[in-house]
Amino acid sequence: MMAQRAGGEDLMGSDLFGTPDGARAPGSAAASPAGSARDGSVDAAQDVLEQVFGYKHFRFHQRAIVDTLIAGGDALALMPTGGGKSLCYQVPALVRKGTAIVVSPLIALMQDQVDALEQHGVKAAYINSSLTPDERAANEWALRAGELDLLYIAPERLVQERTLSLLERTKLALFAIDEAHCVSQWGHDFRPEYRQLSILAERFPKVPRIALTATADERTRAEIVQQLGLEGAQQFVASFDRPNIRYLISDAGGGAVGRRRMWDFIATNHAQDAGIVYCLSRRAVEETAQWLSDQGRVALAYHAGMPAEQRRIVQARFLAEESIIVVATIAFGMGIDKPDVRFVAHLNLPKSIEAYYQETGRAGRDGASSNAWMAYGLNDITQQRQWIVQSDGSDLHKRVQRGKLDALIDLCEGVTCRRQALLSYFGETGSPPCGNCDNCIAPPQTVDATRDAQMVLSAVYRTGESFGVTYVVDVLTGKADERITRNGHDAIKTFGIGRDQKASYWKALIRQLVAAGYLAQDEEGYQTMVLAGDARALLKGEATFNVRKSTAHAGAKGEGARVAKRRDVPAITAEQQPLFDALRATRSALAKASKLPAFRIFADRTLIELVQVMPADKRALEQINGLGTVKVERYGAQLLEVIAQHRAARGSGSGSGSGSDADGDVSAEAARSLAQFRSGLGVEAIAAARGLPPETVYEHMIGAVEQGALETADLFDYDDEDLDEIHAIFERCGTLKGGDASPDLAPVMKALGDRFERAFVRCLLAELR
Ligand code: ADP
Ligand code: ZN
Repeated sequence: MMAQRAGGEDLMGSDLFGTPDGARAPGSAAASPAGSARDGSVDAAQDVLEQVFGYKHFRFHQRAIVDTLIAGGDALALMPTGGGKSLCYQVPALVRKGTAIVVSPLIALMQDQVDALEQHGVKAAYINSSLTPDERAANEWALRAGELDLLYIAPERLVQERTLSLLERTKLALFAIDEAHCVSQWGHDFRPEYRQLSILAERFPKVPRIALTATADERTRAEIVQQLGLEGAQQFVASFDRPNIRYLISDAGGGAVGRRRMWDFIATNHAQDAGIVYCLSRRAVEETAQWLSDQGRVALAYHAGMPAEQRRIVQARFLAEESIIVVATIAFGMGIDKPDVRFVAHLNLPKSIEAYYQETGRAGRDGASSNAWMAYGLNDITQQRQWIVQSDGSDLHKRVQRGKLDALIDLCEGVTCRRQALLSYFGETGSPPCGNCDNCIAPPQTVDATRDAQMVLSAVYRTGESFGVTYVVDVLTGKADERITRNGHDAIKTFGIGRDQKASYWKALIRQLVAAGYLAQDEEGYQTMVLAGDARALLKGEATFNVRKSTAHAGAKGEGARVAKRRDVPAITAEQQPLFDALRATRSALAKASKLPAFRIFADRTLIELVQVMPADKRALEQINGLGTVKVERYGAQLLEVIAQHRAARGSGSGSGSGSDADGDVSAEAARSLAQFRSGLGVEAIAAARGLPPETVYEHMIGAVEQGALETADLFDYDDEDLDEIHAIFERCGTLKGGDASPDLAPVMKALGDRFERAFVRCLLAELR
């Protein structure tokens, strides 16, 4: 379990376990792991994890990193946002003697971190420019007195001689250098002070150091190692996968259609959740925020053009209140540590895959299901290409930017698993299709559009490569206006050749031709289309052109509204809802009383677990994920009371407690299936996990559909045409009539020629009746 690294043994012997000599800070005594290992096994880290933080298991990599530091080694940790970087140094900070020094550039976040630690009963403080001289002196005094488990400090202050010599007179547990990519000159967060941090290696050779970042690339990693003197550090590179984020990308465009679809998506999936909507321009930010407010949501605009004070208020409200949507330019997000952001929506194409990954990564840091939704359109592609051309950068810079944009466009237009595409961009190959992105859930149909593509190219060519999209589409659909007639383009061969398709179809096809490089738009701003790349080969029939069926033309419900439904917050049944609501209200009250955001009191997942387990005493409470000793001490009594009241109310309501309902057990089983389904498990997986026949689980699901808790679309993928056909057969067979609880499906199945699963047909019937 322990990393057996050279030279680590003696440290392990003395430091790991007991701190009987009183090195522990008084403030953390209650939660301190000192001497608390059960059965004599030496696992202080596990004890701290459970008792202080209330978690049962280390996440992958956390364990190894923690062990490395406890053993006195250095580490470099690359983990995605939400991967759990903080625990990697917070646990060793509590296990090792002395104070851990955490270097962070995000001054605004220090208070937040310290608050969070205090909630766990850990003694932490910070020193930065926001403190008064008195406050600073008090914190320095606490440090000297050995009262602090962790001290957060800004880099420029740390490297001052005064601070360094103060630290030399202090017992130090470790140095943690957060956001370590700030040493990189090439990155976007370069901080010159970070380069001076190499001094830590010289002045404190015996104190273990850990550098942490969520930036993935090799070059940055090498720079961190070199600049911070971490040549001997063990490197831990966690997967950049964020399995709880569902990626949904649609080509509906950022205009009115895109906005409408975004609203469908938010209203269906996130009626009460906090989220971020990104737009490219300040104007779009303000308009969209207003528009969302008109729909009845609390939506706040945030962009760099707003006064600092106003931005601060938006940020504070977003953290403190539930259900707020922030509409922002990319200026919003860096350093926003809100774990329960349930969705991130892009109303435009981001600049690169890196930007997309970083921005979507702000969703779901708490590990619960979250959605990353995007709508993009032809304008986005054209505009971004134009910006690159017009930028002041060198040719090399422009080429790099263009390459990045193209990679993102490939991701958007792609028909295979989004996650695979994302991860392989970051160098992680070989993962299977994820089952949790739009392309996996409803694989897009591709069609051979070579002929249509030829029509477009030909129309562009025959009109002299001098017109924009609308003009070319008008020519294709045979919509002669004055300009077309004047130019004589109503007489060319391609005029009206595509009139059996809608204009929107041709626009989507043109976008895909631009994305694929067969067409280019002039970059001076007129957006004139010209042939490009291998357009001639395609025109001559030497190449073929396959396209995804545009999602903008998908069935009436639209994929966004449909696929994102399977989610685990709230993974609770209607019966559990009152208790959930009561506990949530208690959490709000506690949060208000202590002036903290609700998620600092407990995460949503903790609430759900409380509802599912309904602990009856403090011992049982401690078993709940997210409740450590201190939180149980602080809030346990209130939680238990709420749960007890609920139990009593339910007991009296149903006469004799649990078993009054004849099919009580069946509905409990069904409720469990539904909860598991909502947490993302498939029917087969649920059946396998519980040793039930799949048919039984399907029965549960059909029951849920009957009660309106699920829709058929949550369970099955189908075409709307199939739906029409089945519906017609239901009517023909009279299945929809009459009050028969379980009508005979045999004639329906027969009429359908057994082309559909019985469970599917039953679900549809349940939904229709
Ligand atoms: P990062 O800094 O890497 O973005 P955080 O350290 O803020 O991530 O952790 C993200 C979330 O995951 C936090 O809510 C944290 O409490 C939670 N978390 C971290 N490690 C664990 C664990 N081992 N078990 C359960 N939750 C964890
Ligand atoms: Zn996928």
